[in-house]
Amino acid sequence: MAQHFLLSPAAKTLSLAQVMRMSHEEAETMFVRIRWSETNGEPVCPGCACQAVYNVRRPTGPARWRCKACDKEFTITSGTLFASHKMPLQSYLSAIAIFCNEVKGKAALALSRDLGTSYKTSFVLAHKLREAMASELKGKHVGGDGETVEIDGAYFGGYVKPSNLKENRRDRRLAKNQNGKRRVVVVIRERGGSTVPAVFKSESASLGWIGSRVAPGTKVVADEAASWNGLETRYDVARIDHSQAYSLNGVYSNNAESFFSRLRRGEIGHHHHVSGPYLVRYAQESAWREDNRRVSNGDQTRNTVALALSSKPSVDFCGYWQRHKAV
Ligand SMILES: [Zn+2]
Repeated sequence: MAQHFLLSPAAKTLSLAQVMRMSHEEAETMFVRIRWSETNGEPVCPGCACQAVYNVRRPTGPARWRCKACDKEFTITSGTLFASHKMPLQSYLSAIAIFCNEVKGKAALALSRDLGTSYKTSFVLAHKLREAMASELKGKHVGGDGETVEIDGAYFGGYVKPSNLKENRRDRRLAKNQNGKRRVVVVIRERGGSTVPAVFKSESASLGWIGSRVAPGTKVVADEAASWNGLETRYDVARIDHSQAYSLNGVYSNNAESFFSRLRRGEIGHHHHVSGPYLVRYAQESAWREDNRRVSNGDQTRNTVALALSSKPSVDFCGYWQRHKAV
């Protein structure tokens, strides 16, 4: 039997030990090469894209340049997701390697133990990495003639704990006994292509979004849920009734199910709560992990560094500390 990819040497190209042995200069060089790969590692001003820069590194400080055109100073992380970073670059690299090596997700508490940071620092950092991974999915369109996408939904969040005593327990299936935080993650998964998730209040609320992301002419596979009936006006839809079979006459949505399996295991095994505004980020992280599952861990780490360095400062956490200090 052929060896599973994840067990092969090709899957393991970067160990945490290698990252830990890197000097500060080596980590800097790696970040510079990744950030400015288009100019072979020559710094480019993030403000005006000018390539003529002075090296203004101070004796004990990080790499720093001043733009000849606009006179602004910048560092390796200026204008990126890691802008005004507080930790050494090796710590970011370690965090990314640790984050990528986990296959279902990494708990912020465990990350804070690995890095020796506060819980909040690792929480924010992990969410920035999710934001970086999500940037790859932004505005992504899938499908087309001859292509097949699988569509499915699953509910997350809004857990209501049953009361201790039987006489105090309520029927938690009724809307009036729920807390309103339950949401459905809907995924579009193209066979041999990308995985695109989003969050809605109900499956039927996602039809407009599906229409905007899946090209006309695409073959769509969905389960028997009535919420998907509206897809038939737009696409050629095959249905698989899961009460009868998971795969019948070549119709199945197992790839979409695999995505939910990963996200659910991340929720149960690592994060415990994935509700609220962050749910979409956990879903996007799982999608990235699905789409990159056959990429070596060294390349996953480098690709995530590249995504973080090509993303603008965080939309989720810009000013997070300031806001939270104020309250
Ligand atoms: Zn400039």
